Amino acid sequence: MHATSPFIPPEDATGATLTVDLAAVVENWRQLDKRTGPKCNTGAAVKADAYGLGADQVGPALMRAGCQTFYVADVGEGVRLRAALGGGPNANPRIVVFGGPLPGTEKLYLDHMLVPVINSLEQADRWRTFVGAGAVLHETVLHVDTGMNRLGFSSADFATLMADPDRTVGLFPLFLMTHLVSAERAGDDINTLQRDRFASHFGRFKVRFPDGGGSIANSAGIFLGPEFHLEYARPGSALYGVNPTPTAANPMIQTIRLLGRVLQVRTVPEDGFVGYGGTAPVAAGTRLATVGVGYADGYPRTLSNSAKAVIAGHTVPVVGIVSMDLIVLDISTIPESEAREGAMAELIGPALPVDDVATAAGTIGYEILTGLGRRYHRRYLRA
Ligand SMILES: *Cc1c(COP(=O)(O)O)cnc(C)c1O
Repeated sequence: MHATSPFIPPEDATGATLTVDLAAVVENWRQLDKRTGPKCNTGAAVKADAYGLGADQVGPALMRAGCQTFYVADVGEGVRLRAALGGGPNANPRIVVFGGPLPGTEKLYLDHMLVPVINSLEQADRWRTFVGAGAVLHETVLHVDTGMNRLGFSSADFATLMADPDRTVGLFPLFLMTHLVSAERAGDDINTLQRDRFASHFGRFKVRFPDGGGSIANSAGIFLGPEFHLEYARPGSALYGVNPTPTAANPMIQTIRLLGRVLQVRTVPEDGFVGYGGTAPVAAGTRLATVGVGYADGYPRTLSNSAKAVIAGHTVPVVGIVSMDLIVLDISTIPESEAREGAMAELIGPALPVDDVATAAGTIGYEILTGLGRRYHRRYLRA
């Protein structure tokens, strides 16, 4: 428990329950690991607290399933994950930090056995100085940009690095990586363009580091085919149930279920409106259920008047504006006995996949997951 953790009452006393199915996460990882084949080290991106599901639970579950490489965004996430995963010097599993070592953080990488991704000449030079030009044996990962224009060496800077052996002393790169712009659109020419650009950088890299691997694929990249798999794959979202092939059926299984509690049921006494701003007209006799989940719980306000919920197998609409702590459902179509005070409504889950909720909210599954709230009860189903 973190010192800052809020008090969470028992499950039957919270407005909502989030169930995280660790067995489903593990099953998704196994599916991806199988798809990439035996020569590829399939890792897991567990940045942003494992996309909101909880890195302290997801990390160890995947490690027990055989995952050996974890990816986080910054050094703080890396330090916390190392505590959750354990491990001695030269520890497996590896924890790779995408963001690059900021000045002054280098020692944290050594102390917690974190692998820094080196994204620029400046970072390479600083790291080399820090490790005493090879006096300390500590792996890194090199990142070359092939079109994203976000992180990674430019082509010119990477050529500069590869041309000067003195400049790579002490880097001990485990692999060279790049990141795809548009992997979930299989037909987009940028994918093959990035792959070809990477291949030319990788050729130069292999001359200098014959044992070094290559890495291109995130979740969707894995589905672009074997030429994108190389030695290391870095899936994140697909592990958690987001569809890596949005134009086809989702090959992944859902991993979370958010249930909101019905706090009150009412029958509208006269024609009127629901909620702030009076955006949703309701006729006299309409039956409404008020549920204890709102935008403060990561249920986006953009779902106002557009989301669905499932109560006792019935799909019903969210009516009115999503408020901070509450939403309202129109339950007129449900028999009274099935939607009483205390009943639970599924808001995200097998019946309402995260991608569908995201589409209704005008966003992507990634943002729904990473925004999941901290106020309600969380239950982990063991792998
Ligand atoms: C987040 C991230 C991943 C994982 O991406 P998904 O689309 O969630 O699979 C892989 N590589 C890098 C560099 C990332 O930032």
